Order: sequence, then C-alpha cells, then structure tokens
Amino acid sequence: MESVDNFFASLKKPDNMGLLVFLSCALIIWIFSDTIANFFLDSKAATSLAPENIYLYNRASFAINGLLIALIGFVIDVTVTQRTIAGRAQSMAHDLTRDIALSQAQFQTLYENSPLPYFLLDEMGCIGRPNKATLRFFGGTIEVCEQLNLYDMLGEQGKGVGAQSLLREKISRGFPINREEMQIRTIAGQLRWALVSVHVLLNTPTIASRHIVTLVDITEEKEGERAKSDFLLLASHQLRTPMTTIKWYIDYLLHTPSITFAPDVREYLEEIDVGNQRMIDLVGTLLTVSQVEMGTLLPEYAPLSVVELTNDLLRELEPDIKKRNLKVVMTVDKEAVVTSDRNMVRIAVHNLLTNAIKYTKQGGVITVVAENSRARCNISVTDTGCGIALEEQSKIFSRMFRANNARKMSTNGTGLGLHLTRSLVQKLGGTISFNSEENVGTTFTITLPHVAPLA
Ligand code: ADP
Repeated sequence: MESVDNFFASLKKPDNMGLLVFLSCALIIWIFSDTIANFFLDSKAATSLAPENIYLYNRASFAINGLLIALIGFVIDVTVTQRTIAGRAQSMAHDLTRDIALSQAQFQTLYENSPLPYFLLDEMGCIGRPNKATLRFFGGTIEVCEQLNLYDMLGEQGKGVGAQSLLREKISRGFPINREEMQIRTIAGQLRWALVSVHVLLNTPTIASRHIVTLVDITEEKEGERAKSDFLLLASHQLRTPMTTIKWYIDYLLHTPSITFAPDVREYLEEIDVGNQRMIDLVGTLLTVSQVEMGTLLPEYAPLSVVELTNDLLRELEPDIKKRNLKVVMTVDKEAVVTSDRNMVRIAVHNLLTNAIKYTKQGGVITVVAENSRARCNISVTDTGCGIALEEQSKIFSRMFRANNARKMSTNGTGLGLHLTRSLVQKLGGTISFNSEENVGTTFTITLPHVAPLA
C-alpha cells in the first residue's frame, strides 16, 4: 500500500508529471489513431486501394501517429525541463538569499557585540557605525559618537606633538596602521590609551567610509606601567642625591694631598668609588628608561657633528680602552652632521662603545665608522669580541636581557643599555640593527635621519 502511495507521490514531482502527461497523450493517440489517420489521409480512397498499397497506407497512418506522439513528447520534455531548471534556479536563489541573510545577521551580531571597539572612518576622520564597545570606550550614545571626529579626539602624549596630522597623513596615504599606541579622549574628556589599527575596507575612492578602525583599550596596563615608572623615577631621584654626596667625599679623600692613607685603606676607598660610580650609572640609566617610557623625555633638536661626538666619547672612555689594551680604528666622515637630540645620540653611541669595550678581550680591535647615505647618517661600532649566540640574538633588545657568554665575561651589566638605546634611536626617527657571530665579533649600526622627523 505504501509503495502505491509512493508511486503516486513520485508522479507529483515535476519530472514525473511530464512522463505521466506524455503517457496519457500517447494512450489517447493510440486509441484515436484511426480517427487521426483518417483526418490526414483519405480513408474512402483507402478502401479502393490495391492490397499492396493498403500496406503503405497503414505505414503512413502509423508514421503520422508516431510523429504526433514524438512531437507531444518533445513539447512536454522542453516544458518540463524548463520548469525544472527554473524551479532549481529559484530554489538556489532562495537558499543563497537565506545564507546571505544568515551571514549578514551573524556578522552584524559579532560586529555589534564584539568586546573590541569597531567603527568606520571617512576621509575627514568622522566616525560611523560605532559598535557597542565603541560607545562604551567613548562613553556616549550612538548619536553622539556618530558626531565625533577621531582626529579631534587624539591626545598628544604617546606620539608627541603632531599625532593628529601624522595619523591623518598615514590614513590618507594608505599606510598600514597596526596596533599603534595612541591616547584618545573620551566624550567626558578623560584620556585613555589604545592600540589603534586601521584597515582599508574598500579601495574605492567613491565610497566615503573606506576605513575600519579597531581599538584595544590598554589604559589599565599603561597605568600599571606608569606606576612602575613613577616608582623607578622616584627611587632613582632619591638614590642619586646620596650617591653623588658619597662620590664627592671619596673624591675629596682620594685627591687631597694633605690626607694620607695606608695603602690598603686607599685601595678600599678606590673600590668604594668604582662601586659607587656603577650605582650612579645604573640610576642614570633607570631614570632615562623611565622617562622614555613615561614619554616625559622630550628631544631638543640641534645640529650635531658625529665626528665631535665620537671623539668626545672615545676620549672619555680612553682609560677603559687602555686598560684592555684595545686598538680603536676610526673612519668618520666630517660631513656627518645630523639635526637631532645631542644627549640622546650621546647615550646611544656611548652604550655601543662601552659594550664593545666590555665584551672584547685584551688586544682586540674596535672600529667606529660614521658615514652619510642619502637622507641618513649611519654610525656603526664593530668589535672583535665574544659575539652573540644565534639563539640569543632575538632577545638582545629586551629589557634586562644579558646573554650567557656576556654574563661570564663581565659581571658589570644591567641588560638595560640596548633596550634604552633602541628606544632613544626610535624616538629620534632612526633605527638600530646588528650583525654578530659568536667568538668572532659584533657590529651595531645606528641609522639616524639627517633631520629628525619632528625637529
Ligand atoms: P649590558 O649592561 O649587559 O651590557 P646591554 O643592554 O647593553 O646590557 O646589552 C644586552 C646584552 O647584549 C649584553 O648583556 C650582551 O649579552 C649583548 N651585547 C651587547 N653588545 C654586545 C657586544 N658588542 N658584543 C657581544 N655581546 C653584546
């Protein structure tokens, strides 16, 4: 019974309906085949035909019926096929529309409820389609947020003066902006820190909001860092005064001819002096690191001769160079002049030179080269020292990192020098790179623009 039901149900499908109609037509044609044949052929004349021609008459009537059945079959086939194709296309279009609507709804839900702020940005910096996290970040309703201009909401700290024009320039030129730290003002006027990324949504100039912006709120991390830096700054300031006083007294005791000491006491005093000097250097570095991280160390730009700077530094470091019996080779272009912050460049080159001295064995060679190349000036320091093992090279600029061979060779080190050097060089619009082979030597190169970008 079920199979009979299935049979009738299958006949209701569009393809099988065609077959059913065709079979019904064929049956009707077969029943009325004589009438149809008589319609086309003269049946009265057929009765008078000779017997051999009656055979031909029957063949013709058979052919006419056959042709009619074939014609009906063809018409039904074409109609049914077309209906089937149209039906399938319609159902595909229906599925497609449903899928698009579904993914649109999914995207909309994700966009709206993402914990990350997302919004569109037009050429003028106006914010569009802010999601819920954006409203929370700025602290306003959708209507208020859609009135905001991102460039007007940028704080100056973090990117220095000109953060607005720099961002505007980068966006309009299509430069990638990926997780750049910026300070952004909320509607209530509070400053928050965010990692800002800007992606080009559509590369079609006719579309106004071509960029999508995402923010990662890092205000809390920044506040933690700031508290740490504040503490460092305070501790360094507090330490500096007593250490300077100790230095002053030791100098006085050691260098006043009327004061005499037993040789071993003088030796102790000299050791105290060396230890105290190390502490002063460390506190100085800590101070500079925390000032850089807090963004309170602002460059003061002035023309600076690289020859003079390196000569000054080498003169200052001469006692250490002599102590280690090192040979210094200098190839410094007299034309190498940069408009930069003297103190920052000095700290950076000083760190490279003291490292080269510290990590090169007795009798080694240190080569200092400074040369101009296009709009840049390259300052490199090469040594024939212990080098840096390949597996440790990626960590060399991390705060407090010291390689194993360096620890064995010199206990005097903090792992802050290169970290600070890189921060300072980057602040001046430059870069730092290095090349090193363990037990062969190292070259560090600082590249500075002739004129620092914000000078
Ligand atoms: P440190 O106070 O330890 O010298 P730095 O930050 O100046 O700290 O350098 C970090 C580490 O980089 C050093 O401890 C050392 O392992 C490696 N390094 C830096 N300069 C050199 C060099 N010229 N030769 C070999 N290793 C170096």
